[in-house]
Amino acid sequence: MLYIGNHLSASKGYEAMGKQALKLGANTFAFFTRNPRGGKAKEIDEEDVRKFLALAKEHSFGKLVAHAPYTMNTCAAKENIRSFAKEMLTDDLKRMEFTPGNYYNFHPGSHVGQGSDAGIEMTAGMLNEVLTPEQTTTVLLETMAGKGSELGRNFEELRAILDRVELKDKMGVCLDTCHIWDGGYDIGTDLDGVLETFDAVIGLERLKAIHMNDSMNPLGSHKDRHEKIGEGQIGLDVMERVINHPKLQGRPIILETPNDDEGYAKEIALLRSLYRGNAANGQ
Ligand code: FE
Ligand code: FE
Ligand code: ZN
Repeated sequence: MLYIGNHLSASKGYEAMGKQALKLGANTFAFFTRNPRGGKAKEIDEEDVRKFLALAKEHSFGKLVAHAPYTMNTCAAKENIRSFAKEMLTDDLKRMEFTPGNYYNFHPGSHVGQGSDAGIEMTAGMLNEVLTPEQTTTVLLETMAGKGSELGRNFEELRAILDRVELKDKMGVCLDTCHIWDGGYDIGTDLDGVLETFDAVIGLERLKAIHMNDSMNPLGSHKDRHEKIGEGQIGLDVMERVINHPKLQGRPIILETPNDDEGYAKEIALLRSLYRGNAANGQ
């Protein structure tokens, strides 16, 4: 089964997102848990959630991949920015439990000159303060392009964070195709090799979700500018190999390409047409 969707606006609630996903041909989606710039989250309407859960069940949705606001920097140098991040993270995880068993993805932070090692300690330390054994949500670290002082510029940095988190079964990784390409992992000519490296460094069982984006920039550019599927430097053939790769089956695939609704519907239909998994992988 191919679970594919895109980022949807959360402003009208969960049921509206479910219906919008169906309209676009999707069976999963991503949404910002609050304004991407941060700030207060919308109150959760339990009736709305109940309707969404019924719809998601009826249409066999895959796991959702919620996204934390970009302003949430778990390893900021300033104490007040870190405590704001901790507040958002704590509140988001509480609210994620209304839709149990889904994914919450975040950028592992920018160390802003403190160095990666200090950043890794801070981000892992915050996760240790916030994660609970009771939560059903899996928190995902996103692979990053390595622009500025971003943590997660390579698989080793993500592994170092995961190693320091106590509740390891609450953690996973979200692989962003544009970001790892920009980070220097050549999925263009060696997707198998990149996945072998991921498996050796982190473990493929920790790979829970995929952000599928083409890139405006060449391999190793550390830029992070997303392009439409097939219109960038990575190319459609690579995306086709990603969705059909036997080691990547079953993960929700989220498009974060520069598109309007019509463009997303087209990309979803295109990728569905290229998917051979139902026959080839026996699912
Ligand atoms: Fe992201
Ligand atoms: Fe992403
Ligand atoms: Zn990006």
